[in-house]
Amino acid sequence: MSASCGIAIAGGGLAGLAAANALKTFGIKAEVFEAAPALGEIGAAVNTSPQAVKALQAIGVGEKIAAVGHLSPGIYTRNMQTGEFLEFNDRFKMAERYGAPYYSFHRADLLDALASGLDHSAIHLAHRLTGIEERPDHTVLVFANGARVEAEFVIGADGVRSVIRQALYGDDNPTYTGQMVWRALLNANDVPSEVLEPTGHTQWVGPGCHFIAYYIRKRKFVNIVTQQDTDKWVEEGWSTRGDPDEMRLSFPNPEPRLAKLLSLVTECSKWGLFTRPLTQNWGRGRIQLIGDAAHAMLPNAGQGACQAFEDAYILARWLEACRDPVEAFANFRRVRIPRVHGVQRLSLSNAGFKHMRDSELQKESISAGTGSVHGNAEWVWGYDPLGEWDKAPLVPQVYAA
Ligand SMILES: Cc1cc2nc3c(=O)[nH]c(=O)nc-3n(C[C@H](O)[C@H](O)[C@H](O)COP(=O)(O)OP(=O)(O)OC[C@H]3O[C@@H](n4cnc5c(N)ncnc54)[C@H](O)[C@@H]3O)c2cc1C
Repeated sequence: MSASCGIAIAGGGLAGLAAANALKTFGIKAEVFEAAPALGEIGAAVNTSPQAVKALQAIGVGEKIAAVGHLSPGIYTRNMQTGEFLEFNDRFKMAERYGAPYYSFHRADLLDALASGLDHSAIHLAHRLTGIEERPDHTVLVFANGARVEAEFVIGADGVRSVIRQALYGDDNPTYTGQMVWRALLNANDVPSEVLEPTGHTQWVGPGCHFIAYYIRKRKFVNIVTQQDTDKWVEEGWSTRGDPDEMRLSFPNPEPRLAKLLSLVTECSKWGLFTRPLTQNWGRGRIQLIGDAAHAMLPNAGQGACQAFEDAYILARWLEACRDPVEAFANFRRVRIPRVHGVQRLSLSNAGFKHMRDSELQKESISAGTGSVHGNAEWVWGYDPLGEWDKAPLVPQVYAA
């Protein structure tokens, strides 16, 4: 099969579908090519902070996400072994301050919301990209099913192992970060309500690890996601079925609430976290990368998908503003790279503070206001993609290059 289109989006994950909605909002046509035979998300939950919600609202999915997003008063942080209260991250206050809510989603619900308003005849499933050819006046996308598609311009949203990135930059493989994740989903009816009191969203921090549990899908499920420093990652891929007993052993001497949660886990998956050094390798000419393909990051600032949603809105704004998409892509990179690099550095530094091995020092830093398990992220959450899409972003010195 051979076909042609104006803009092709490779990858129908959160970034790719957000980009398709954003382009649609600005009257720009695009075709999505997704490797999987059906749209779907692996991993249980994802959170979106106010500035990303503003981007989602601006691309026309505000009501849909409000219908499936869970609002919690905030994250309550405890010591993993003693249960002692350490910090409260007030999300209602954050919403009021920044003018948009902070949601927790079941990933499948968020993806459905993004897919629901799109023309499904423009979403081509079972199209695994295997190569891309750059020509002076177009590009050619080559797929594993034998299809070849000529596209004038390409948006690469094909995730951390991006084929497009590989084609453009060669040996730029993501590497293991020394951190792994356990994920599990519990039926909320099985979880005694006092376990997640007082906010329904609790984080436990311990030496070299943390553990987060919170309600999603109208309190039907409790999502569990953890992270720990370990050099023991040996699996080929980065998501595999895990052993609940091995998961339990990763959190020795848990305080009673955490012990109860761990005891309820009967199925889990484990993930190795992979990223790559920060580079300017975000695309060139007719090809633009977005989302994890451009900027995979540690999840410690809860910003990987949020940055992809900012990407989607801002890329569409530039495409609308510039007559030449090549110029739009260059402008997009000029404003996006400094901000996202700052967020990537924030994610890294959050991991260090959350996983401090000296819990007394950690506690003192929190009380003294010199450290926070959530990081100092006012500049991330307070960003307004609608007002600032064409401006050089403000990144605090400590997170700037
Ligand atoms: C444990 C954990 C927790 C996280 N929590 C949060 C959070 O709370 N908030 C937040 O903002 N972010 C969070 N993130 C980050 C977030 O999940 C990612 O940044 C986000 O999913 C990236 O979306 P994407 O569409 O760029 O990539 P992906 O989600 O990887 O999607 C890529 C898509 O491209 C398709 N694809 C891949 N290869 C090809 C190919 N060759 N041809 C065609 N299609 C292809 C895939 O099938 C997939 O549909 C978390 C990440 C982890 C690991």
